[in-house]
Amino acid sequence: MQTLNDIPIRHFDALIIGAGGAGLRAALQLANADLSVAVVSKVYPTRSHTVAAQGGINAALANVLPDDWRWHMFDTVKGSDYLGDQDAIEFMCRAAPQAVYELEHFGIPFSRLDNGNIYQRKFGGQSQNFGGEQAARTCAAADRTGHAMLHTLYQKNIQAKTQFFNEHFAVDLLKNEQGGIQGALVFSIETGEPVIIDARSTLLSTGGVGQLFRTCTNALINTGDGLAMALRAGLPIQDMEFFQFHPTGIAGRGMLITEGARGEGGYLVNELGERFMERYAPNAKDLASRDVVSRSIYTEVKEGRGCGPDKDFVYLKLDHLGADVIKKRLPGIRDMCLTFLGIDPIEQAIPIYPTAHYTMGGIPTDIHGRVVAPARHSPEQAISGLYAAGESACVSVHGANRLGGNSLLDILVFGRAAADHMIEYLREHSYHNKFDKASLEQAIAHWKRWDNTENAADKPESVAALRDELRLVMEQHCGVFRTREILSEGVQKVKAIVARFKQAQIQDHSKVFNTARVEAFELENLGECALATIVSALHREESRGAHSRVDFDSRDDQNWMKHSLYYQGADKPEYKPVRTKPLTVDSFPPVERTY
Ligand SMILES: Cc1cc2nc3c(=O)[nH]c(=O)nc-3n(C[C@H](O)[C@H](O)[C@H](O)COP(=O)(O)OP(=O)(O)OC[C@H]3O[C@@H](n4cnc5c(N)ncnc54)[C@H](O)[C@@H]3O)c2cc1C
Repeated sequence: MQTLNDIPIRHFDALIIGAGGAGLRAALQLANADLSVAVVSKVYPTRSHTVAAQGGINAALANVLPDDWRWHMFDTVKGSDYLGDQDAIEFMCRAAPQAVYELEHFGIPFSRLDNGNIYQRKFGGQSQNFGGEQAARTCAAADRTGHAMLHTLYQKNIQAKTQFFNEHFAVDLLKNEQGGIQGALVFSIETGEPVIIDARSTLLSTGGVGQLFRTCTNALINTGDGLAMALRAGLPIQDMEFFQFHPTGIAGRGMLITEGARGEGGYLVNELGERFMERYAPNAKDLASRDVVSRSIYTEVKEGRGCGPDKDFVYLKLDHLGADVIKKRLPGIRDMCLTFLGIDPIEQAIPIYPTAHYTMGGIPTDIHGRVVAPARHSPEQAISGLYAAGESACVSVHGANRLGGNSLLDILVFGRAAADHMIEYLREHSYHNKFDKASLEQAIAHWKRWDNTENAADKPESVAALRDELRLVMEQHCGVFRTREILSEGVQKVKAIVARFKQAQIQDHSKVFNTARVEAFELENLGECALATIVSALHREESRGAHSRVDFDSRDDQNWMKHSLYYQGADKPEYKPVRTKPLTVDSFPPVERTY
């Protein structure tokens, strides 16, 4: 086998890092174009977080009520609190029906209406423009949409002969001598052995970083590895201050109760039995967008109207929907309540509280999935050979607040768009270049970091303890409501924790399935993402979408219609303007956002 620096090397046209919906949709497109595609995933592909998506995927199919992609676009722009890039939002909403029909033809078992069409439910932030009735735009496979989607895409990839590197962990991107990206250094979790994947084009689709917060809906694997890899390659990450807190996590545990539960007619009540959302969002009520509902729950609890002995949660009522609707449309939610709470939502209300859910920020891309970074002080430029899609990317369609059902759409549309551009790119770049020596050596040194005991401190820090501390500080200092004081203190604390990483050691240096080593790499990546998030939050002095500053409590379009770009180690972000020009329709200028 060919080696480089004694490490086996494998050659491919395309490397996809991450086998969630975004990575698998891209891989399928590339494999069907007869290109050789490697997909690397640190877990077996069907365990990627996409599998956990419950509620559904948005597309203006108008199967239940009248709808139009332009309404979908407007709702998404408004939901983003006008920070989303309107060219990307138009691109996504126009492509949505096609993306869903394509899935249907791949074989995904969507729930059906009596006439055989795809079932669609109401979701948060969808327009009320059709005789006062809210659109029903979210296509669902019961409450297991992501599961159905991920399994379908995986099977299609097996059919298309995509080459999978399952349970392989990507450590760092590799640069070529021309300054472009040409693959990555990865290692097999099963054997502990490294592999260099030399690919003419690389896509990062590593998902979000929900593990930044102690209470979250995200899988343990969502540690922002791709974001940290981009930072280490000298690239910025964008809009990290915008982190979505989902209003309905199971109180005290964080697991998600889908917005689809409210879409089916569920509603929130406080200790007095009041439907309090009527006060905060008189029109959309419980289906206002997520940032609005989360803040309302916090306010109810803060003002003493919470439920339970400690008055620290509110209830989500579903019992009035009847056993039939719950069993047919929300079977997974019922299972979860029975298993983790010992209650049946057919009879009892569910205790809920907001929980960290979705990373709006990510690696900056254009609508073709190309990673774009302003080469410090010169115009924006695409990084040769590097693409990003899905939750790890920021294209940005979600701006300051994502609408439910738009992420499953984002991963499909931009997974495919990135692959389409990669196919063109590969036609023009037919040779593998030489690796940049420094980049290769740096990656190898990084890979060996956790086996190195040379500078072992007398009392080494523990990876697990550092991770727990980091997640607690992020929860306490970078949560739903923020102030300069709390954030500045948080920045100092996060920096102090990250500085202690140098003294961290792992005790187990064995090779086979050494999860301690994997967790150590993940901790480093969490640290990078924590700094990006909290530093960007400190410097955005306005309230917009999910970023709610008590000391700057309104949106400031004059000064802050811009994306933040954080580079590794920076004390403050750089900024670039929002793309406000759609591709073909008139733009939606910012107006006050009410629901
Ligand atoms: C509980 C829950 C419910 C949700 N429900 C909905 C919903 O109903 N509708 C909706 O639109 N959105 C929903 N979302 C959001 C949506 O599911 C995600 O944003 C989306 O699925 C992310 O897909 P992805 O392909 O970007 O990443 P993921 O599915 O997270 O996949 C990431 C991949 O990257 C791999 N990876 C990461 N790091 C490495 C590394 N270092 N080396 C190798 N591989 C790596 C992982 O193994 C995995 O394969 C939900 C999210 C959660 C958490």
